[in-house]
Amino acid sequence: MNAVDDKTIVREYFNSTGFDRWKRIYGDGQVNKVQLDIRQGHQQTVDRVIDWLKADGNLQGLSICDAGCGVGSLSIPLAQAGAIVYGSDISQKMVHEAYQRASAVLTPNNHVNFAAQDLESLSGRYHTVICLDVLIHYPQEKAADMISHLASMAEDRLILSFAPKTLALSVLKKIGELFPGPSKTTRAYQHREADIVRILEQNGFTIGRQTMTSTRFYYSRLLEAIRR
Ligand code: SAM
Repeated sequence: MNAVDDKTIVREYFNSTGFDRWKRIYGDGQVNKVQLDIRQGHQQTVDRVIDWLKADGNLQGLSICDAGCGVGSLSIPLAQAGAIVYGSDISQKMVHEAYQRASAVLTPNNHVNFAAQDLESLSGRYHTVICLDVLIHYPQEKAADMISHLASMAEDRLILSFAPKTLALSVLKKIGELFPGPSKTTRAYQHREADIVRILEQNGFTIGRQTMTSTRFYYSRLLEAIRR
């Protein structure tokens, strides 16, 4: 499968069954145990990013690009904390949901804009560019291009999360692939941390804070890359 196919499939998925599934996971209604585990793991990743940014003490007025923003799980609290946020997503439906969720809780003093746009076509410069749990949908070569593009928009910092390629996770994934069923979604790609770090360094960044969130069904490595 080539990268163009991956992108088309991902877009269609997040505008159909994927939208329904992830809207529930990224919500507060009732979900099954696996989805609850993923919801809690993802929330830990989001909370960690917010903690890092708040700890810096300059969130007020900071320009942030949230690429692949989903339903706004990160964009909305960042706007509430005073950042000027531009959230975008390849899925029209995800963006519409993000807009509705933002409208329900934000005030005119908060600054967030949402647009349906794939991250490869984004432009502009932001103090911080963030891309959480998106690279999992793309193979290494495509992910490298995406990271380089995001890096070109980041004046100071790029924060990324990805599913790390480790032996244990590769075995788990193989087992999952033996049992294809209705819950099967898009293909999930893991990435070698060394590859991601190399791409970031080639783009002029150095690794800052880092963490790993692992629950039973959610694995996400979070890296902060700072422009040298
Ligand atoms: N970043 C959000 C979060 O952490 O709450 C959403 C994560 S969700 C697993 C992945 C999101 O990436 C989906 O909303 C999907 O539509 C979006 N996405 C996938 N490929 C994309 C691309 N090429 N450009 C922009 N968004 C993309």
